[in-house]
This record gives sequence, C-alpha cells and structure tokens, in this order.
Amino acid sequence: MSNGEQESWSRVKERLRAEVGDDVYSSWFARMDLEAIEEGAVRLSVPTRFLKSWIQSHYAERVLACWQAQDGKVTRVELIVRSAVLKSAMLPKVKPDVGIGELGTRYTNGNGIGRSLIVGDPSVHEALGGSPLDPRLTFDTFVVGRSNTLAHAAAKQVASAKRGDPVMFNPLYIHSGVGLGKTHLLQAVTWAGNAAGERKVLYLTAEKFMYGFVSALRTQTALAFKEALRGIGVLVIDDLQFLQGKSTQAEFCHTLNALIDAGRQVVIASDRPPSDLESLDDRVRSRLAGGLVVEMGPLGEELRFEILKARVLAARTHHPAFDVPLPVLGYIAKTVTHNGRDLEGALNRLLAHNKLTGHAVTLEMAEREVRDLIRPQEPKRVKIEDIQRVVARQYNVSRSDLLSSRRTANVVRPRQVAMYLAKTLTLRSLPEIGRRFGGRDHTTVLHAVRKIEGLVGNDMALAEEIEILKRQLQE
Ligand code: ADP
Ligand code: MG
Repeated sequence: MSNGEQESWSRVKERLRAEVGDDVYSSWFARMDLEAIEEGAVRLSVPTRFLKSWIQSHYAERVLACWQAQDGKVTRVELIVRSAVLKSAMLPKVKPDVGIGELGTRYTNGNGIGRSLIVGDPSVHEALGGSPLDPRLTFDTFVVGRSNTLAHAAAKQVASAKRGDPVMFNPLYIHSGVGLGKTHLLQAVTWAGNAAGERKVLYLTAEKFMYGFVSALRTQTALAFKEALRGIGVLVIDDLQFLQGKSTQAEFCHTLNALIDAGRQVVIASDRPPSDLESLDDRVRSRLAGGLVVEMGPLGEELRFEILKARVLAARTHHPAFDVPLPVLGYIAKTVTHNGRDLEGALNRLLAHNKLTGHAVTLEMAEREVRDLIRPQEPKRVKIEDIQRVVARQYNVSRSDLLSSRRTANVVRPRQVAMYLAKTLTLRSLPEIGRRFGGRDHTTVLHAVRKIEGLVGNDMALAEEIEILKRQLQE
C-alpha cells in the first residue's frame, strides 16, 4: 500500500471521528484497518464478524461518504473480517469474506455511485442497535413526585453507576399503569448512562428483543447477537408484558441469567408485577422478582401540575409566545386525570389552538379544547383483572393462585374477597365472574359474596381491608 493511501486513510479516520464523536469512534472504528484500494473499491477490515455487521448496518454510508470526501474516485467500500491466517498468508488479495446467511458484504447502489448499502437483514441490526430513543425523555424532564420517588432514585442510581461498581439491585423492575412514566424513566437511564460513557446502555422494547432474537436465530447470527450483548453494560427492556412465545422466553431467560451472572445491570419495565406475567415460567418470574421491584402509582394532582409546568417551559423554547396562565394549568391538572400522555395531549391542543388562531390561552378556551380528555368524576370503571391484581398483591399470593383450584386457607380468603369486590365494583354477572376466576360455577361466586358480606359485619379488620382495597381500585 502506498504512503498516499495510508495518508488518505488517516484523513478519513479523522473525518469519521469528527463526525461520529470519540465514543462511537473508539467503540466501532478503532480497530478498523485499510487493506487495499483497487479500482475505486476500498477494502477495510475489522477483527470480528459482529463489528463488520454492525458497521455495515449503521455506518456504511457514512464511511463511504468520508472516503468520497477524501477521494472522489472511490465508489465502493468493502468490509471484511480479518483473521490472523488471512492477514499473514494472502493479503491484500484476499476475497471478501461472505459466509452463507451472512450479511451482504458489498454495498453500492444501483447507479454505481455507491451511496447506500445492501444488508442481509436489517431487523437484526435494529435489534442490536436498540429501539429509537426520544430526546425529550431524559432525567431533566422527569418530574419527581410521591408516586415515583423510589423508581426515580433507583433509575438514577443505575444510570450513574460506574463500570465495576457492585450492582445494587438486579434486575431493576419498574411497573405501573399506562402513561405513568416507565418509558420516560427507562429512556432517561439510557441517555444518561450512555452520556456518562461508563457503560454501554442498550434500550430495547420487548418486541424488538423478541424480533431481534427470532430473526437472529433464523439467520444464524445468534452468535453475533450474543456477542453484542456481551458488550453491553446495561440492558434496558421496556414493555416486558409483550414478550411472548416459548423459545423467545427461553432466550430471554438465558440472556437475563447470563447478564446478571456477569454483573451486568438489567432494567425492566412492565405494566404489571413479575407475579402477574402469567405466560413466563416460574424461574424467570422469580429471577425478575429477585432484584428490586418498584411500582409507580398514579400521578397525583400536584405531580400533574408540575409536569404541565415543565412542559410549558419546554414548549416555550420553540414557541416563546406560548403562555399558559397558572389557573389553566391548575384546571388541566385537576380534570385531565388519566395519565401523562393525556396531559401532553391537552397541552398540545392549547399550543395548536394558540398558534393557529393567535388567541391567548384562557380558562374558557382550555375548557373547550380539552373537554374530551376530561375523565368523568364518577367512580372509575373497575376491571376484574385489576381486582385480582390488587387483591393478590395485598395478600401476597399470585394472580394465578386466585384462579387456581387450590383450597388452602391463604388462597381461599383472598379469592373470596376478590369475587366479592368483582360483584360489588363491576356490573359483571355471577356466571361471568365465575368464568373469570378460573372457570368456576356461579354458585361458588354467590357463596363467596355471601360469605364476605357476612364477615364484614363482625370482622372490623376485614372490613377495613376491603375498604382500602376498594379505595385503591377506585382511585
Ligand atoms: P408509560 O411508559 O408508563 O406508559 P410514558 O413514559 O410513555 O409512560 O409517559 C407518558 C407521557 O407522560 C410521556 O410524555 C412522559 O414524558 C410523561 N410523563 C409521565 N411521567 C412523567 C414525569 N414524572 N415527569 C414528566 N413527564 C412524565
Ligand atoms: Mg411505555
């Protein structure tokens, strides 16, 4: 190779480094070498297949563009995996390594200018590269209140832990209803962790995990997938409740064990506690429950107010004229009670209205704009699943225990309480309730309801327990 070529290569590397930043550069490109330049084709090598497929899927265009900026004659970049043998024996005339089922090795576009690439299976790489992150979901924009203090503190701790620090709780498992900030917190961990540069944090939705794995197995790049996991300091999995399928779960279990045993941090979010992930097998469930399990409660009015205030401030960086009087925020915080997403929706409407009409935001306008986001004040409709979940948690049994045919006292009473609540808090019929409790007969439900009705008259402790359960359910 000529000195000129080596010099071009140094320039290209500098350009690349400037474009992607030091961190990315040293993670992916530090071990990339120039092998040859022939007739407009640049051949680069990296030491592992995984690096090759990662660079191909994420940076091929950029590498090519950097070359073209340096040398207009370059039309194509080829990436090969170098091995010790190849290196000593036959370079630079080596053929690019193209295995069966491997990712495409050459990338040029149809018109020969070579701007884009052909990869074998982008889904694998998306899975490896993580799910997209929303730049707004950071710790800076996360408002801490009573219902999320613990989850927030744990997430912060995880994000700021250093490589080699003892792992305090593993996995960290956060659960809550929809729209209460799980994804926000998980993405905040990802942003903050990666910014600190201490440990690589990979954020995946369960679907992505599933899809990545399944296709990785199918295209026989599971090894690459595992190699990728090995490079990860913190694995973040969102919406675990969507993880489905026996083989996926087996792989999930395997990954989880491997990471935890290797002292890597795992962070998980789900809409239910581990005990309610019914399709998961017991070992996984207990592994999940073995770390720190934190529930985030509903956003209280005060927290909703603070979130809204923060949102308006954020919106004003782009729309300086946007102003929402505090009473309007108070009104929204009070009435739009459902979740963070509706709060956002409400503000977006005010903003849109304000922008489109030029009218200032007033209470009257707010009342009109957010009308359909307002939750009725009458008691919330309670679902049988919620009852089962809340009762199971209260009595420390699993939801499947409630549905099972087990007749031990520690399960029978909670089951009766749950049936009683189902009858009193929902409009479901006795047969329907029976069906939802593991296919029981309606007379069994009736018996349970009468039993509890009889007991609450005399048993103050039980009456109070039931009162608390009702309040939790109707909150
Ligand atoms: P989940 O994943 O639990 O369904 P998200 O994290 O997607 O909920 O939150 C829904 C919306 O509410 C997002 O826009 C999020 O930024 C916002 N949100 C929820 N909790 C908070 C909070 N504590 N501070 C700021 N925004 C929040
Ligand atoms: Mg979410």
